[in-house]
Amino acid sequence: MVYDVAVVGSGFSAIAETANLLRLLPASSSIAVVGDDPGFGRGTAYRTELHIHRLNVPAQRMSIFADRPDDFADWLRTRGKGVPPDGFASRDDFGRYLRDRLAALLRERDRPVLHFIKAKAVACEQCSAAKNAFRLDNGSLLEATNVVLCLGIGNADVSVDVTHIEGPMRERIVTNPWRLGWLSHVKPSQTVCILGSGLTMVDQVLALRAHGHRGPIRVLSRRGLLSHAHADSKVEPIAPTLPASRDMSALLASLRQQVRAGADWRGVMDGLRPLTQRLWQELSPAQKSRFLRHALPWWNIHRHRLAPLVASRLDALGKSGALRVYKGYIKDIEAAKCKLVASFRPRGESGLAQLEADWVVNCTGMERAGIRHSPLLRQMLQDGSIRADELGLGICVDQSAQIVDRNGVVQPGLFALGALTAGQFWEITAVPDIRVQARSVAEQIAANLAV
Ligand SMILES: Cc1cc2nc3c(=O)[nH]c(=O)nc-3n(C[C@H](O)[C@H](O)[C@H](O)COP(=O)(O)OP(=O)(O)OC[C@H]3O[C@@H](n4cnc5c(N)ncnc54)[C@H](O)[C@@H]3O)c2cc1C
Repeated sequence: MVYDVAVVGSGFSAIAETANLLRLLPASSSIAVVGDDPGFGRGTAYRTELHIHRLNVPAQRMSIFADRPDDFADWLRTRGKGVPPDGFASRDDFGRYLRDRLAALLRERDRPVLHFIKAKAVACEQCSAAKNAFRLDNGSLLEATNVVLCLGIGNADVSVDVTHIEGPMRERIVTNPWRLGWLSHVKPSQTVCILGSGLTMVDQVLALRAHGHRGPIRVLSRRGLLSHAHADSKVEPIAPTLPASRDMSALLASLRQQVRAGADWRGVMDGLRPLTQRLWQELSPAQKSRFLRHALPWWNIHRHRLAPLVASRLDALGKSGALRVYKGYIKDIEAAKCKLVASFRPRGESGLAQLEADWVVNCTGMERAGIRHSPLLRQMLQDGSIRADELGLGICVDQSAQIVDRNGVVQPGLFALGALTAGQFWEITAVPDIRVQARSVAEQIAANLAV
C-alpha cells in the first residue's frame, strides 16, 4: 500500500501533525504513523509522570491547535485541574491532553484511514516527487507520497571521551538522562555531578529529589547560568524597539536600552517571540553564528523560563547548600576508588579543579545535538537526500518546511518538523511554534492531494 502521508516520529511534532492531517485531509486518504515509542505524542518532553515537572509555557499558549488557542486551558478547566489559563500545568497532564485530543479525532466517522506502525525508520530508499520509500527496523518497506519527519534532535554527547571507563563505573555516567531508569539506582546519600545548567539539569534535579535522593548535587557548566523564572503574575508582551541594522550587537543594545528605560524584560522577550523567526532569517550566516557563539546561553536563560513553583524549589536547594553550581570547562572524567572525578578549569583561572561524585549526568542540552543522533538522518545525509544546515542545528528546509537535498533542490512532499528545522526558523522548539508549522505542513499536504 502506498499511503498518502507517512508521519515518522512519536513526540509532540508527530501527534500535532497527525491531528492536523486528520482534520484537514479527505476521508478517502490514508495516513501511516511510524514510531517506536509506546506513549505516542509524549516524546521526550511529556512522558514524565512527575507532577513537579511543569510546563514552562502558560496553559493558554499550549493548545495543540493553532486555530483553537484556548483548547488546553479549556481541557484543564473541564477536568477541574485547578490551573488558571496563565498558570503552569504538569507536563504529564499535557501528555494526557494530547492523547485525549487524538482519541477524539479517531472516534470521528468521516476521517482518513490511519495506521500506527510500531517501528523505527532506518533508511530512505527512495525520495522522489512520485513516492518516498522508507525501510523500517522490522524489515518492511513503508511507501508514501508525502512524508513528514518528526524525529526530534536527540541529546548532545558528553563533551569529553569516557570510553576508557568501563564496567560498573561506566554505568554511573548517564549520557542520556531522558532514559529515566538511572534514577532508581541512585542511593539517597550519593553525590551527583550534573554537566550543564539548563532546563534538562532542572528536570533531573527535581526527578532526583522526587525519587528520594538527599545527597549533594554539583552542577558544572561553562558559565554557570541558571534559567530565570516566569513572573508570579502575568506580564503582557511589549513590542520590542528594533534598530534598522540586522547586526547582533545593535539588536541586543537596542533591547537592553528598552529595558533600562523601564520596560519589563520578560515583556520584551515575549514581545520578540512573534518576530524571532523573521529576525533570524534576516541575519547573515556570520551574525547567526556569532549569536550561537556568544549570546545563546543568555538567550536561553531569558527565553526559556521556569515555572515559579519549579524556580522556588531550585532556589531552596541552592540556599540549603544541597545544590551548588560551578563555572568552568570540563577537561576529563576519570574513575578512581569507586568514585568519578570530573576535572575542570574554573572560568577565569588557569589551574584545574576537581569534583568527586558517584554519578555524572550529561545535561549539556539538545540544540547542538544536530543530526548525529539519528541513523536515519545519517543515512539520508550520506545518500544526499538531505543536507545539514550550515550552523549544525539540523537539516536544510525551505520556508514551507520542505526538505532540501544535497544539491539545494527542494524535495516535494518530503517535510521536516520541529527543532530539526532550527537552521531555517530558529524559534521552532516549543509547542506554540511547532503547532503552527504542523498546521501549515498539513495544509500543504492537503493541497498536494487535491491536485
Ligand atoms: C524536558 C522538556 C520540557 C519541555 N517543556 C516544554 C514546554 O513546557 N512547553 C513547550 O512549548 N515546549 C517544551 N519543550 C520543547 C519540546 O521540545 C517540544 O514541545 C516538543 O516536545 C518537541 O517534540 P518533537 O516531536 O519535535 O521531538 P521529540 O519529543 O524528541 O520526539 C521525537 C520522537 O521521534 C522518535 N523518532 C526518532 N527517530 C525516529 C525514527 N527514525 N523512526 C521513528 N521514530 C523516531 C523518537 O523516539 C521520539 O519519540 C520541552 C522539551 C523538553 C525536552
